[in-house]
Amino acid sequence: MSERRCLIVGAGIGGVAAALLLSRAGHRVTVVERKPRPTELGAGLQISPNGARILQRLGLESEVQAVSSQPERVEFRDWSNGSVIVRSMLGASAEQKFHAPYFHLLRSDLLTLLVDAAALEPRIDMLFGTVISEIDVTAPSISVESGSRTLSADVLIGADGIHSQVRECLFGGDAPRFTGQVAWRLLVEGDHLPEHLTQPAANVWWGPKKHFVHYPVRGGTKINCVCVVEQADWAEESWTQPGAVASVQHDFENWHADVQTLIQGADSSAIFKWGLFDRPPLRTWGRQQVTLLGDACHPTLPFLAQGASMALEDAAVLAQCLEGQPNVSLGLRQYETLRQPRTAYVQRASRRNASIYHAAGLKAILRNRIAPYAGNRLMDKIYGFNAFA
Ligand SMILES: Cc1cc2nc3c(=O)[nH]c(=O)nc-3n(C[C@H](O)[C@H](O)[C@H](O)COP(=O)(O)OP(=O)(O)OC[C@H]3O[C@@H](n4cnc5c(N)ncnc54)[C@H](O)[C@@H]3O)c2cc1C
Repeated sequence: MSERRCLIVGAGIGGVAAALLLSRAGHRVTVVERKPRPTELGAGLQISPNGARILQRLGLESEVQAVSSQPERVEFRDWSNGSVIVRSMLGASAEQKFHAPYFHLLRSDLLTLLVDAAALEPRIDMLFGTVISEIDVTAPSISVESGSRTLSADVLIGADGIHSQVRECLFGGDAPRFTGQVAWRLLVEGDHLPEHLTQPAANVWWGPKKHFVHYPVRGGTKINCVCVVEQADWAEESWTQPGAVASVQHDFENWHADVQTLIQGADSSAIFKWGLFDRPPLRTWGRQQVTLLGDACHPTLPFLAQGASMALEDAAVLAQCLEGQPNVSLGLRQYETLRQPRTAYVQRASRRNASIYHAAGLKAILRNRIAPYAGNRLMDKIYGFNAFA
C-alpha cells in the first residue's frame, strides 16, 4: 500500500473520524480546522448501530460508553395526552440484531474522544485555529496563514460542514435553504427530575407543527432536549437567546406536563436556538483528487438522527476505497458512487419525516394508525448497514 498525503478541511465528527481511519491505513493526514479548540456547542447526539460500528472499529467503544447512555427503547408519544403511539425496542435486542450498540451522548464528548485519539496518532497533524485563504482544487492544495504557507496533498477532503468552502470551490456557491423549522436545544439536570423522565430511552413527542425529543446523556445525569418548531423565517445570528426558557414555554404552551417539567428544569445558560437548513441531494461530490464528506455533501435534517452516523459511514467507506488503490481519483469516484445513493435516501427520508412528525388533524390520525407498522422497515435498513462489509 502506498502512503498518501491527505488534507482534510474540517475537524467535525466526519473529518476527525476520516483522519483516524486514513492514518491507520498508513496515510499521512493533515486536518485544518478554523475553530481554535476541538470543542463544539454541546448539543446531544444519537449514534445508531450503523455509526457505532465505526466507533467500535476505531477502538473507542468503551470510552464512548463511559460518557453516553444506551437507550432501551424509543417511544413516540402524543403531544397532549402522552399516550404512546409507537414503541421500538433498542437496548440488548437491537444490539443483538445489528451487532453494535445505540448511543446517546453529547456531541462535544464524542468530538473530544475523537480528537484525543487523533492526537495519539503520529501520522495525523491537527491544525486548529487555522484560517484558509485559498483552496486550489486542481493542484490540490490550500493556502493558510494569510497565504504565507501552502499545504499540498494527494487527496483533498472537504469535511467542512453545510457551508463547505471546498464544495463552493468545486461547484460554485449555492446557499443552503432554510427549511421553515428551528430547533431549540435544552440541557436539564437529571437529579431534579421525576424518575420516568431519566429512563434510558429516546422520547419523541409528536404535535401539530412541532415535536419535542429528549433523551439522557452522560449516564442519565443530564437530559438533552431538542425541540423543533415551524417558523416562517430565520433572522437570528446569535446562538444564545436571552430569556429563552420563557420562549420555549411559549412555543410548547399546552403540551403535556412532562414536556413542561423538562422546559422548566432547563439550564438557562445553555439554551440555544438554531435554524434548520438543508440542500437537495448532490449528484457529484468531487473531481480528480478532491472529494467531500459528511454535511459538506449531504446535510441531513435531524428527523432520523442520522447526520453524524452518515458522516462516520462516509469516513469508513472513503478509507477503504483508497486502500490498495493506486489511482486516487478512481478510489474517490468509487467512494462517491457507493455513498451517494444511501446518503440521498437518508436525506430524503429525514425530510419526509418532518411532515410526518408535525402532522395535524386527519393526517395525524392516519399517521398514528400506520406508524406502528411502517417505522421498523426503514430503521432496519438504516441501522443494519455495515460500512465495512
Ligand atoms: C438539531 C440537530 C440535531 C441533530 N441530531 C443528530 C443526531 O441525533 N444524530 C446524528 O447522527 N446527527 C445529528 N445531527 C446532524 C449532525 O450533527 C451532523 O450531520 C454532523 O455533525 C455532520 O458532521 P460533519 O463532520 O460532516 O460536519 P460538522 O460537524 O459541521 O463539522 C464541520 C467542521 O468544519 C469546520 N469548518 C467549516 N468551514 C471551515 C473552513 N473553511 N476551514 C476550516 N474548518 C472549517 C467547522 O468549524 C466544523 O468543525 C443533528 C443536527 C441538528 C441540526
